[in-house]
Amino acid sequence: MNEYQIRYAELKKRYERSEGDADSVQALYEYKDFLEEQDRADAKWVLADVCETLELYRSAYETLRPLVRRTDKKALKRLGRLQGLLGSGDRFGLRRPQEGGKTGKRAALLAALPAFRYHPDPFKTEVFHLADSPVTCECCGKPVRIYYDGPFYAVENISCLCPECIADGSAAEKFDGAFQDECSVEDGVDCPDKLDELIHRTPGYEGWQQEYWRAHCGDYCAFAGYVGYRELKQMNIVDEVLDDPVWDSAEQRELLEGVVNGGSVQGYLFQCLHCKKYLLWIDCD
Ligand SMILES: [Zn+2]
Ligand SMILES: [Zn+2]
Repeated sequence: MNEYQIRYAELKKRYERSEGDADSVQALYEYKDFLEEQDRADAKWVLADVCETLELYRSAYETLRPLVRRTDKKALKRLGRLQGLLGSGDRFGLRRPQEGGKTGKRAALLAALPAFRYHPDPFKTEVFHLADSPVTCECCGKPVRIYYDGPFYAVENISCLCPECIADGSAAEKFDGAFQDECSVEDGVDCPDKLDELIHRTPGYEGWQQEYWRAHCGDYCAFAGYVGYRELKQMNIVDEVLDDPVWDSAEQRELLEGVVNGGSVQGYLFQCLHCKKYLLWIDCD
């Protein structure tokens, strides 16, 4: 085993022994950051392993693809298996316990983006993508690398918008569209400007059913990503999300235990921008 494999084996053992506690997941993420900076094939092989353990199947596939030789049957088989999991991309991967490690490519991407109050990390939630070669924004017509292909409700079928055209409202205006159904938002926000920002200037997210946007403290919440019970437990916020009029009985707790990220009962996590409380929404496929 090389040094990368040895370190990975240690981290994986720790992860399995602790049944995926937050520290062990964080350590895997930090090792992933480290491996991404290494310019060596043996490090990239291990990077693919780390991504797979973290259930980041898209990253695992994309890391592995350039490394695999046509004659390497075992690796080709693995690549095929990962390809079959690509549909869920990275968004159902294990959640990074601390977002401290915004280094490298991701940090540069995020820094170049307009800020979206109600959807702070659209890369993590996979509605923004980085194209290998420039694509054309259907609103401004400019060639862009970062594009949005999440929900957009308009008469025309629009599949590629740049972050700027979302942030300044020009996409919603040009196509008379919305990123979120204005009827599918929680009550309690008495401010038309906030609703306008949410539905016309904020990237949406992908739900199984009609997306619903939670609100708290008189404002819409920030969409924090896709979760299941496992992720809530890992974040230590099960009781916090249950402390919510939406979840008012013991049966609800049982229902919550059946929520699996990427499964047929899916959780969508929101966080209040004011009191920082986490709130959950779920739906079924
Ligand atoms: Zn544009
Ligand atoms: Zn609040």
